[in-house]
Parts: sequence; C-alpha cells; structure tokens
Amino acid sequence: MTAMKTRTVDCDVAIIGAGIAGCASAQSAAEAGAEVVVVERAGNITAHGLDVGAIGSKLQKAAGVEIDPLDAARLIYAWGQSKANYDLIRVYTDRSGKVMDHYIDLAEKYGLKVTLNDSMTARPDWNELEDRFRMFRTAHNFAPADKPAVVEDKAAIRHFVRMLRRDAEAHGARFLFRCTPEKLTKLDGRITGLTAVTAEGEKLRIRARRGVILATGGITDNKELLEKYCPEALRADKNEYYPKGGNDGSGLMLAKAVGAAWTRSGAVPVIHPVNFTPLGLGIQTSWLTVNREGRRFSCEMGFEPIVTNARLNAPGNVAWAVFDANYAKNVKKQEPHKAAYLLPGLEEKMEAAVAAGEYLRADTLEELAEKIGVPPKALEETVKRYNGWCRAGEDKDFGVPKRFLSSVTKAPFYAGKVSAWLLNVGYGVHVNADSQVLTESDEPIGGLFAVGNMQGDFFANSYPVTCPGSNHGRAVLFGHLVGGALAKGKTLSGKEA
Ligand SMILES: Cc1cc2nc3c(=O)[nH]c(=O)nc-3n(C[C@H](O)[C@H](O)[C@H](O)COP(=O)(O)OP(=O)(O)OC[C@H]3O[C@@H](n4cnc5c(N)ncnc54)[C@H](O)[C@@H]3O)c2cc1C
Repeated sequence: MTAMKTRTVDCDVAIIGAGIAGCASAQSAAEAGAEVVVVERAGNITAHGLDVGAIGSKLQKAAGVEIDPLDAARLIYAWGQSKANYDLIRVYTDRSGKVMDHYIDLAEKYGLKVTLNDSMTARPDWNELEDRFRMFRTAHNFAPADKPAVVEDKAAIRHFVRMLRRDAEAHGARFLFRCTPEKLTKLDGRITGLTAVTAEGEKLRIRARRGVILATGGITDNKELLEKYCPEALRADKNEYYPKGGNDGSGLMLAKAVGAAWTRSGAVPVIHPVNFTPLGLGIQTSWLTVNREGRRFSCEMGFEPIVTNARLNAPGNVAWAVFDANYAKNVKKQEPHKAAYLLPGLEEKMEAAVAAGEYLRADTLEELAEKIGVPPKALEETVKRYNGWCRAGEDKDFGVPKRFLSSVTKAPFYAGKVSAWLLNVGYGVHVNADSQVLTESDEPIGGLFAVGNMQGDFFANSYPVTCPGSNHGRAVLFGHLVGGALAKGKTLSGKEA
C-alpha cells in the first residue's frame, strides 16, 4: 500500500472549529477579503441555544433599551469575583452593539428577522432589581421572518450560525468537514498553520499566511478535564439538548503543544434549571425550594445558576420547589411582563403535568412531604418560616425580593423537582484583550488567537446571566473582530498579528 501524499492548502486565515465562534470568524475574515479555511472535525457546523447578546444595538435603541456599558462591565466582572480580564469584558460592553448591527443588516439579506428576546431566560424588567439580580435586555434572536421567534424554537441559533456559514462561503471561505487537526505549525515563534488529516486519511499541510484562530469550544465532553477543573459539572443532569461529542478539549491540547497557557479564570459551567414543565421551575419562576431534609437552602430566584449551584451541593443532589393553589396568581405577580406568555392555558397544562408525574400534588403539606420523601414536620416548619417572610415582604434568610416571595398557604399543594441541566463548560486558553493566545509569561504567541469558549479569561467561575446571550455574544463579537483584523494581518487593536 502506498502512503498518501501530503497535500498543501494555502490560505490567509485558518480557523479550527465551526461552531458559532468559528463561523463568525470565518464570515468576518472572508468578508474582509481573506482566503479562509475552516477545519472542523465533525460533519457539520455546530449550533445550540437561542440568543445572541449585545449591548447598544440599533434594535435596542429603537426599543428604548439603554444599557450603560460601564454598568454591564462592572456586573460581569463582579460576577467572576475579579478573576476575569476586565479589558476583554470592556471590548464586549463597548463594541458588541456595532457588531450586532452588522449582523442585523446581514440577517435582512438572508431573510431572518431579529427581535429582542423577552422570554425563557431573559427577563425584560429585571434591570430594576438590586445588582446581584439585575438583568439587561441584551438577548437578540434571529429567526426566519415567517416563523415565531423564540420559545417555540429551542435551537433558534442555528438560523444565525447557518447564515454565518453561508455568507462566509459566499465570500469564498472553504469548510473542511470531518477533518482533524494534528498539530499547529510554529516557525520562528509564530504560528503559521497546522497539519490535519481528512476522513479519507489524506494528510493536509495548511499554511495560513496571517494566522490561526482556535474556536474548538469548551471541555464539556472531557471527563478527565471536568474532574480536574469543573467537578460540579459531573453532578449536573444531562439532557436531550446537551450536545454530545464536540467539546473534548482537544483545542487546548493543540494550544498547549505550542506553549500556550490555559485560562487563569477557571472553568465556566453553564448549568441552568432548564425546565419545560408549565411553570418552568427555576428558569421562568421562583418558588420556595427545599432539600431532602425539608429545609430551605438557597435564594430561590429564577436566576441561573443560584438554585442549581445550591442543588449540586445539597444532600443527595436533589431539591424540590413547593407552591400552592395560588400558583397562577403568583406567576402574574412575579413576572407581569411574561404573564401573557406564561399564563394562557396554565391550569390545563398543570393538570396534564400532574397526570404525567412531572408535578406532585397533595391536599396537605404532610401528604406532599411524604410524596417527595422529606420529613413532614421539617417541611411544615420551613413553610411556616417562609410564609412569615412573605407576610413581612422581606426574606431575611436568603434575600429573595418581595415580588418573588410566593407564600404556600392554600391547598392543594404542589411540588416539582428542580433540574440542573449541564449545557456546556467553557474552559479556554489564556488571552489578552486582543484575544491573542498567551504563554505562561503573558507573551502573545504570534499568529494565534482564540474565540468562543476557547477564549479563556472572559468569564470566571460561572456564566453571568446578568447579560443574557453573552456566551454567544462574546463568541460572535470576538469572532467578528479577530477574523476581520487578522484578514489584514492585525490584532483587533491594530498591532501586528
Ligand atoms: C442547549 C444549549 C443552549 C444554549 N443556549 C445558549 C443561549 O441561548 N445563549 C448563549 O449565549 N449561549 C447558549 N449556550 C451556550 C453556547 O451554545 C456555547 O457557549 C457556544 O456554543 C460556544 O460556541 P463555540 O463556537 O465556542 O463552541 P462550539 O459551539 O462548541 O463549537 C466548537 C466546534 O469546534 C469543533 N471542534 C472541537 N474540537 C475540534 C478539533 N480538535 N478540531 C476541529 N474541530 C473541533 C466542534 O465539533 C464544534 O463544531 C447554549 C448551549 C447549549 C448546549
């Protein structure tokens, strides 16, 4: 058998990974005139989720949504307890609006309608709450102009990512699917391309005149790395939306082999109480929540990841939301702006959910406690104390704001399990504010950039839902800025790449 020859592929910019970050980089670099090659190990592009965050877009301006970029930056930074790179965050808060405008225009060309997301995880009026729960209207949705925007389509982002790919290809970008990188090529301290192998076993020597962008996503699928850097992710529930197989951390290994340091900000688990039952426990609405001992143990705001973090550390890794016959009234009180979407048919949906065993119902708290397997006396005491805070309008235990305190007084009583769905775990390489990949001694590696979940140091500890959609938002923003700048051989602040 004769060994296959190595084929040389020349381009200006090589991108590894065709998720939202890689596709944004490809679109931008190709649009800026670069010859682009995207190397993707899977057979297609990757897209999951709903929305893309941005601050200061023309859509927000038209809707009268004003967000002070400094406020947003302060809150994102505070969320990570000062472990992230503030300058990176400022790129997002200061430049994402303009970049979003670019994609709003492109969407029109591709028949997509852009709206501001006000449902699911987005809460249009939470900007009025205290800092720790404040949420801005940053989430943008892209959907076919003739289709409803959000809730009905739980993978709506695919329309946006497909648009990026189509436009990149329209500008000449080449996507090499089922193509696996072997190593990055380094010459005189600079990254000059990579070697890869196709599904047919053909070896490729990809020469990238300007540089390489790493966009291989996080470490969600690598158990060893999760055990080391994000053990709580292993206590989360996996779910039908959990993408399997794409995020094994192999991009980190490619980077490490050429001297890159890994993030200094830790892993960023995105673990939401995703719940598509009538009340969307913990994602749409907030209720008294107890652990298996029947005791309250966290601030029950539907503000990821407060309840999920607490559940992962609860005995037995289980938690129950408890509410009463007044649930519809309480939904309206908690979320007046989302009532039009949450309330229609709620009672019928609840009946169906009880019949399906998604919620448990009982005429007394004692009976409910037995059904969910918690000590009845403890549950009764917990409910009594919680109802006291509801009457006082102040939760001195955990600080749930008055509007969300929903007393448990009127039979029948209900309980539902709080889920903690692992969506993904971001964990990338150490970068500077230009998203250049750095060594352990903070020196940029020439010609090497990281975007999306491969970009470390943007978030720290956890995903800041204070700016919904910022996961996709920063992937798109840095993909766009880095791709466009690298097409000209520059970093996004104008230095030589
Ligand atoms: C169900 C779900 C819902 C979500 N909802 C939202 C939301 O509404 N808003 C939001 O902001 N975020 C959301 N997220 C998070 C968001 O989807 C991710 O943060 C985002 O996908 C990260 O994009 P990425 O391009 O960095 O990585 P990915 O989308 O993971 O793409 C990485 C790509 O690289 C490829 N790859 C990996 N390793 C290699 C390799 N060695 N060589 C070649 N290719 C490789 C993979 O196959 C993949 O195609 C959601 C996530 C999930 C799972």
